[in-house]
Amino acid sequence: MIQFFNTLSGGKETFRSIVPGEVKLYTCGPTVYDYAHIGNFRAYLFEDLLKRFLQFAGYRVSHVMNITDVDDKTIKGAEAQGVSLEHYTAKFIQAFFEDTRLLRVAPADHYPRATEHIPDMVRLIRGLLDKGYAYVKDGSVYFSIAKFPEYGKLSKIRTDELQSTERVEDDEYEKESAQDFALWKARKEGEPFWDTAIGPGRPGWHIECSAMSSKYLGETFDIHCGGVDNIFPHHENEIAQSEAYSGHPFVNYWLHCHHLIVNGEKMSKSKGNHFTLRDLRQKQADPLDIRFLLLSTHYRKVLNFTFEALDQAKASVQRIKDFLYELESRSFPAGDSPSITKLIQETQEKFIGGLGDDLNISVALTALFELIKKANILIMEEKIRAGDAETLSAFVYRLDGVLAVLPAKQEASLPEEVVKKIERREEARRAKQYGLADQIRKELLQAGIALEDTKDGVRWKALKKIG
Ligand SMILES: [Zn+2]
Repeated sequence: MIQFFNTLSGGKETFRSIVPGEVKLYTCGPTVYDYAHIGNFRAYLFEDLLKRFLQFAGYRVSHVMNITDVDDKTIKGAEAQGVSLEHYTAKFIQAFFEDTRLLRVAPADHYPRATEHIPDMVRLIRGLLDKGYAYVKDGSVYFSIAKFPEYGKLSKIRTDELQSTERVEDDEYEKESAQDFALWKARKEGEPFWDTAIGPGRPGWHIECSAMSSKYLGETFDIHCGGVDNIFPHHENEIAQSEAYSGHPFVNYWLHCHHLIVNGEKMSKSKGNHFTLRDLRQKQADPLDIRFLLLSTHYRKVLNFTFEALDQAKASVQRIKDFLYELESRSFPAGDSPSITKLIQETQEKFIGGLGDDLNISVALTALFELIKKANILIMEEKIRAGDAETLSAFVYRLDGVLAVLPAKQEASLPEEVVKKIERREEARRAKQYGLADQIRKELLQAGIALEDTKDGVRWKALKKIG
């Protein structure tokens, strides 16, 4: 049995997917106006843990993560630099994919970009206008929250206390100023715009996720994630738009991760405690140690990032690596023992039981480190056989399918330029430049590297000795 804390109901619920064995998952992706910071990565890693655990538990997961490449922030950033929106966001989109690859975030099935889904948003907005949930004012279209009595059910704000005669134009605002919000913003001098059936303009942030999630996952899907910051107004507004349009429940389970703070303080650029993955790598931090650290606090607790905690995370990952090294480098007498089978079984039950209890990572990690401790004692007492060592090593790698903190063995032996080429092909594929992607694949093949596209991303195989 798997249980998750559902923000919508405010309690833990047994998880049941709409289609047995399949999970449809939508996670709010990056707004590409800057490099993502470790607080953003905490959310992406919590979502990655959730997804990998569901896969481990036997579910097929369809995962969609949007890319917000047009909104108030991206427009402001492009304007400040005097470049086109596309030019401005391209760099941050590329950085996002590089960073998530380093952090071993399993790729989503789709990364829809807002700018490529304007017709879907316009269709949704027209539907809301037709049904009377939206109205036009000065060329912009607003959602009328008074028309949707369930407004507030996610964030628990009381609409009867609201003065909803005002309208809010900004994408982000506080709970206290809950008002009719912009679905479509009329064309403004100097801003990018699209000429559409609802007039020239550009979408509000919230409608983007409503349009892109339903396009790829259907009108009702299983899980929607984000950070607690997204609960209001972003997710509240998504629910209003989607449910008013379709007349069906939008999402069954809403999961939100808590904030990340640094040295006990809110992260901010002015305080100098604002870190991107790039900043930490400059300080020689290993992305997988960072991954371990960001995963190892329960997602509904505030995570306090410190460099001491990063050192501890490194030591923990090293313990797993040392254990595997012991198993793989020593020679053990032939045979196997039933006590190891039992130990593995117990560990697996605790690991699954922990993560199945609203992703209780502490229980899962304790189970793994207990196993390592007990097995290390058995190694010292010379009670481990060759078969046991193999089973233990395979088991730890299996759990790492969920944790993903061990370096993939193959990565280390690929020359840098080949890694770059594989990345360039991935980018080309994402940009739907299939001709270019195919050309790179052929080049790699000539260099003796065959590529295989799997659900965990691209895998490679050396057809001859490389490097
Ligand atoms: Zn979103």
